[in-house]
Amino acid sequence: MNMKISDLGEFGLIDRIGKTTPRNAKRAPIGIGDDAAALLLSPSSTLLATTDMLIEGVHFDLTTTDLYSLGWKAAAVNLSDIAAMGGVPRFCLTALGIPPFLTVEDIGEFYRGVNACLKKFGAVLVGGDTCSSRKGFVINVTVLGEALRKVIVARSGARPGDLIYVTGTLGDSGAGLELVRNAECGVRSKTPAVRKLIGKHLRPVPRVAEGRKLAAAGIASAMIDVSDGLSSDLGHVCEQSGVGAEVFADRIPLSKELRAAKGLKLPPMKYALSGGEDYELLFTVPPDKIKKLSALRIAATEIGTITRVRSMRMINERGQGRPLMVSGYDHFLRLRRGHVR
Ligand code: ADP
Ligand code: MG
Repeated sequence: MNMKISDLGEFGLIDRIGKTTPRNAKRAPIGIGDDAAALLLSPSSTLLATTDMLIEGVHFDLTTTDLYSLGWKAAAVNLSDIAAMGGVPRFCLTALGIPPFLTVEDIGEFYRGVNACLKKFGAVLVGGDTCSSRKGFVINVTVLGEALRKVIVARSGARPGDLIYVTGTLGDSGAGLELVRNAECGVRSKTPAVRKLIGKHLRPVPRVAEGRKLAAAGIASAMIDVSDGLSSDLGHVCEQSGVGAEVFADRIPLSKELRAAKGLKLPPMKYALSGGEDYELLFTVPPDKIKKLSALRIAATEIGTITRVRSMRMINERGQGRPLMVSGYDHFLRLRRGHVR
């Protein structure tokens, strides 16, 4: 009988692709399953490679984003994956499926955004592909970066007792998405706080310098960028490291703008746990490296601890624990279905 992809979900499907694909562990010590692949070109040089697609109607809506922001974001989400490995982004390729309604000026604006983002983080566009699309705008961006083999940080290195940190604040982007949709529906109260949340959604800033510093100093045992929400991305680290986690609810960093935002459908914490697209870095640090971490002066918050027991738990202000449900976006389950890992 044919199995439906919706029965497996996005991550189940990727897992299956990985298991049925031959590996070359010598040349590609990190392949399918991390933020970027790590490919050995020579003993001294490792290439990092990542690719992400953005599809109109799935990842973005041209009524709520301008083309400059879309270009910026398409580059930023890939740079974020290089950051999550502790690498330095160098080169970019962009492939487009362009629908009939986009103009030359639109594509020009898109590339202004792409190039501005790449320039800010030291990368350069070197190629791609251009096709027509019958319906929506389809964008694929690939970024290549580099890192010394010994400093690359995988998702799989977290160990029991390591502390869990996250850069910046979580949930702003998810709330920003809801607010920009509301604004489109005629809600006109775009205060500076609302604009800031929307800005975090439309033009995320990848944590390239932070990822690189953490890797160079040998501080992070595991790292991932928060693209699908804290619960989902911490879940990936736990699964690949063969560990569990305890997270303290009141330590999860929420911006004052998110806490104060009016008219959101869900409580702020929900956006942090399952909103996604924050592109902050989530990383783990062995206890004996904490001092070194504070010397780096990275804006990061300790939110919990890695455990031997392979489940994720959330501890509330009263010290009571409950299972932390994985509730990020899955392309095929098509809903934010909660399940316990
Ligand atoms: P991220 O959110 O960090 O971009 P994804 O969840 O998109 O990561 O992908 C997880 C891993 O699976 C990555 O290593 C990615 O390269 C790999 N992957 C995803 N889709 C495919 C595919 N169709 N074929 C091969 N590898 C894939
Ligand atoms: Mg990632």
